[in-house]
Amino acid sequence: MEEGAVITGKKKKKWRLGPSIRGMLFALLILFMCAILGILNLLVPEIAMNALVELRQDKIAAQIQVLRNHVLSENYLTTGTSSLIDTEIDFIGVLYESRVEIIDQNLRIIRDSYVVDEGKVSVTPSVIKCMQSGTVIDYDDEAGTVEYAVQITDDSSGEILGILFVVIRLDDVIQTIGELKESMQLWSLIILLLGGAAAFLITVAAIHPLKKTAESVSLIAEGSLDDELPEQTFKETEAIEEPIRKLLNRLRQLEETRQEFVSNVSHELKTPIASMKVLADSLLLQEDVPPELYREFLSDIVTELDRENEIVTDLLTMVKLDRNHAVMNFEQYNLNDMVEAILKRLRPIAAQKNVELTLESFRPVIAEVDESRLSMAITNLVENAIKYNVIDGRVRVSLNADHRHAYIKVADTGIGIPEEKQAMVFERFYRVDKARSRESGGTGLGLAIAKDVISLHGGEIRLYSREGEGTTFTVQIPLAHAAQEKSQG
Ligand code: ADP
Repeated sequence: MEEGAVITGKKKKKWRLGPSIRGMLFALLILFMCAILGILNLLVPEIAMNALVELRQDKIAAQIQVLRNHVLSENYLTTGTSSLIDTEIDFIGVLYESRVEIIDQNLRIIRDSYVVDEGKVSVTPSVIKCMQSGTVIDYDDEAGTVEYAVQITDDSSGEILGILFVVIRLDDVIQTIGELKESMQLWSLIILLLGGAAAFLITVAAIHPLKKTAESVSLIAEGSLDDELPEQTFKETEAIEEPIRKLLNRLRQLEETRQEFVSNVSHELKTPIASMKVLADSLLLQEDVPPELYREFLSDIVTELDRENEIVTDLLTMVKLDRNHAVMNFEQYNLNDMVEAILKRLRPIAAQKNVELTLESFRPVIAEVDESRLSMAITNLVENAIKYNVIDGRVRVSLNADHRHAYIKVADTGIGIPEEKQAMVFERFYRVDKARSRESGGTGLGLAIAKDVISLHGGEIRLYSREGEGTTFTVQIPLAHAAQEKSQG
């Protein structure tokens, strides 16, 4: 797929158990709606009921005041008859579905709009309370009534002459509130259903970009690394996609390096084979080849075979050093002994070029190292210092330590490395001068291996070089491997 191309196509849905953001969001929205509707269903009828009852009380209070005045002016408490009062009581009774009682100061009921209690003594608590402390308004929600009791007092003396007691039935109010409750419940159900559908759509829309990202990532995981993640417009998904894009780029780089490495390996392995084929072919094509020529060509073939063997050995060493597989064998080891042994082994090679090889040990250095691997790395450095040196040159190896690190320095007076190529010499198969390196039996893997080994020790390798003057490699490794591991993480 071309760069920037957008992936399309659907994948089969896979159902997984476990918490889901969509489920949680949906449940939260539904819960929120239920809470709001529940509170409304409780509060609205209550508020409406109170408002209606209050309205009813206010209205009847004015009527009762008029009736009370007429009771006084008609002298009803003594005469017990008045057509005006009767009409008013009937009017109030019918209009407000209420029972009206006129009671004298001895609590005897003089007039009852229901007639049944006339002549009896009232024992109603509201009436007794009114007699003692004035107007009583008592709402009894169980009975669905409001009891209203007012004193009838003599305007001039203030003497309590009787009580006007009204029981207002609230059936119509209760019925209205009941209907309100029913219709609210019905509407709540409708709102809940519509809200549920809306919540479902909201959660689908909210999760959609995440699902799209997941689909794109899984398509990339199954397909090609060249595929691009589609551009998204959401900040939240961008936060997920950005690291994925970085990861993709890293994977691409790794893939590129891998392909480059494979092609380098193939090339390196093919070169000796091609030389051997040329040598063998030329022997086969000639007739009556003298035995000396056979011998010479065969010895060239053996040299190429040795070279092939060397490359394969280096490659195997490198594969084993691969960080994920390397099993390091750390032990306390005397580095002075190790470096001395390396120089002893390489002295004959140095002698071929008349290169002076010296060791400067500043102190005894004991470090926790994988001796065979570190020895191989340092050998590579000293070998290079000899290989890329001039006739009669010098190689100075020095060993030092502080309380935490060991320092090994390999300095030569050789050809040096041009500044622009210094960063590349640690790369696999990189050689500054291919012909010269091949001539001296180099594979281009020596420094890559040395760098891997040193980093497996938690150490560092640095290079200082000036073309035509010489090169110095410095190696720094921690004395204790465990301490190094802890400080790293
Ligand atoms: P090779 O097997 O070719 O020596 P290395 O990985 O050991 O491979 O080194 C890589 C390249 O770095 C060499 O080919 C050489 O060009 C350069 N190089 C390494 N060491 C030195 C040195 N001491 N002086 C000059 N050039 C060096």
